Amino acid sequence: MSSGKLLRRLLELALEYRRPCLAVVVMQGMLVWLSLSTLGLTGLGIDYLQSCVLKNAEAPKWPFGWTPPESWAPMTVVTALSLAIFAVAVMTAGLKYLAAIASGALSQQILIRMRTEIYSKLQVLGFQFYDAGESSSIINRAAGDANNVRNFIDGVIIRLITVILTLTVYLVYMMRMHPLLTLACLATTPFLWAMAVVFSTVVQPAYRRASELGDVMIRTLVENLQGIQVVKAFARESEQAKKFEAANHDIRDLKNSIFFRLSTFQPAMGLLTQINMLVLIAYGGSLVVRGELALGAGLFVFANLLHEFANQVAHITNIANSIQSSLASAERVFEVLDQPVLITSPENPVALPVIRKAIEFDHVSFGYRPDQLVLKDISLRIECGECIGVTGPTGAGKSTLISLLKRFYDVSSGTLKFDGHDVRSLNLDDVRRSSGIVFQESFLFSNTIAANIAFGNPDADDEQIREAARLAAAHEFISELPLQYETIVGEHGSNLSGGQRQRLALARALLTSPSLLLLDDATAAVDPETEHEIRMALESTMRGRTCVVVSNRLSTLRQTDRIVVLNSGRIEAVGTHDELMESCDYYRALAKLQGAPTEPATKRRRLAVAS
Ligand code: ADP
Repeated sequence: MSSGKLLRRLLELALEYRRPCLAVVVMQGMLVWLSLSTLGLTGLGIDYLQSCVLKNAEAPKWPFGWTPPESWAPMTVVTALSLAIFAVAVMTAGLKYLAAIASGALSQQILIRMRTEIYSKLQVLGFQFYDAGESSSIINRAAGDANNVRNFIDGVIIRLITVILTLTVYLVYMMRMHPLLTLACLATTPFLWAMAVVFSTVVQPAYRRASELGDVMIRTLVENLQGIQVVKAFARESEQAKKFEAANHDIRDLKNSIFFRLSTFQPAMGLLTQINMLVLIAYGGSLVVRGELALGAGLFVFANLLHEFANQVAHITNIANSIQSSLASAERVFEVLDQPVLITSPENPVALPVIRKAIEFDHVSFGYRPDQLVLKDISLRIECGECIGVTGPTGAGKSTLISLLKRFYDVSSGTLKFDGHDVRSLNLDDVRRSSGIVFQESFLFSNTIAANIAFGNPDADDEQIREAARLAAAHEFISELPLQYETIVGEHGSNLSGGQRQRLALARALLTSPSLLLLDDATAAVDPETEHEIRMALESTMRGRTCVVVSNRLSTLRQTDRIVVLNSGRIEAVGTHDELMESCDYYRALAKLQGAPTEPATKRRRLAVAS
């Protein structure tokens, strides 16, 4: 996206917050006015003292046509002026406090909105997005980049308006005092602007790179945390630490190079503004000597305004800096927000909360990439209440078949139908909720066991949760835990065994009373005893329920009505255990490896009759 387009979108975002922005700008404007009042009062004080000390000095110009009463002694006048300056200082402090609160609240509001938008978008984005992206980059976009986008509104827009307002007020004030002196002192200002522009174009690529390096650093950290078992098992802690350190050093080097540019830029700007001071002392001083400019209300106020002017111009460096970092981050944030949502409900979806007749794969082909089909011309009808086993070598496409049933992806060609309706014509929530799924490795949230089981059905009461746990053969082990259903599951279920995690996942799937149960190699990673327990539990839950069970375990496959053998994305054979033992070489080999008698069933029957 071009910088112009990004700027336009950021400005549109800022426009939505025009009211709070305006409130902050008004407060900043009042602060400028108060600072001018302080300066004016101090200058007046100097001129008054000068008139008291030097007999031939010009009388000070009192504001609003007011002059101190004749009866006031000089000390009374000076005290009155001091009190007025103090009152302005108190007002300034109060206003600064309010401005800080208003701007802090605004920035939090924007930050929360950006993060919520990113998070909501991540919820609806399909797996294609997650397959292509990296979770560390996504984390960085939601955390760091969202913050930089927020900074565009309070760190750029508000500050820029404030700076422009302040500079304009100062300029008008100075021009009214002495136009020629003002022009002479500000002759270097155009160079300051030019420098700011050059600086900002030089640093923008560096900011984009900084965000990318942030991704690498977060990825190293996240991977290390997730793979801590492997890291420790292979004693690679110090190498991992070095990797993390290297990622941090890369960020440091890049940030240093940005700071280096910033550091050369700021003193250069400072030097240019000091030239203004030289002009003021030489030219302004001569005006005072000639009596054309007052010492206090003239030269003193001028010197301070010039100093403030230089400060405000120096802010432009920071603003230019913020613009570049905001633009680089905005690009990354909008990249996520603009991602097309490929898998959605159609405009007028067919409602099908329960599958009552059949599921049908009608010449379905699918590839994660268009040029590489993973499932090829699959045709299969699964009647309601039927339990289908799916087996085949690794990479055959078994899990992919399950993903299509959940509409995690859409078919590349052919049609997947639920009760005769193309799944793409159905309400997506209906499709997702009509089936319960248990993966090979089940993810559990850091919450209580009860909350984990009730994840798909948060309204379930305690008895329903217990019933689901009983069906999944989980109730017994949960009852033995000190806090039973209120036990907090560690992150990813770290305080539970693999078998316990799977049983909770099964209970979670069953609690939604799905019309279709999908088990994606759910017992592959558990020990034979747990597998046996889960299998026993499944026997009752699978009865009469439509199931698709991916497994390479003969014991599980034998529980199903029909078994589909997938090979290289194609259906190689479909049949019962006995049929496949006769007709499918792959299945026979699989059975042999697991200790099943290898003769086809008919031969075994013949042998049994003969004996
Ligand atoms: P199985 O479950 O039979 O082991 P999968 O369905 O997981 O097989 O995978 C089938 C093929 O698709 C494999 O070649 C695998 O590498 C590929 N694959 C699986 N998931 C993805 C993905 N998210 N992106 C790209 N390719 C994938």
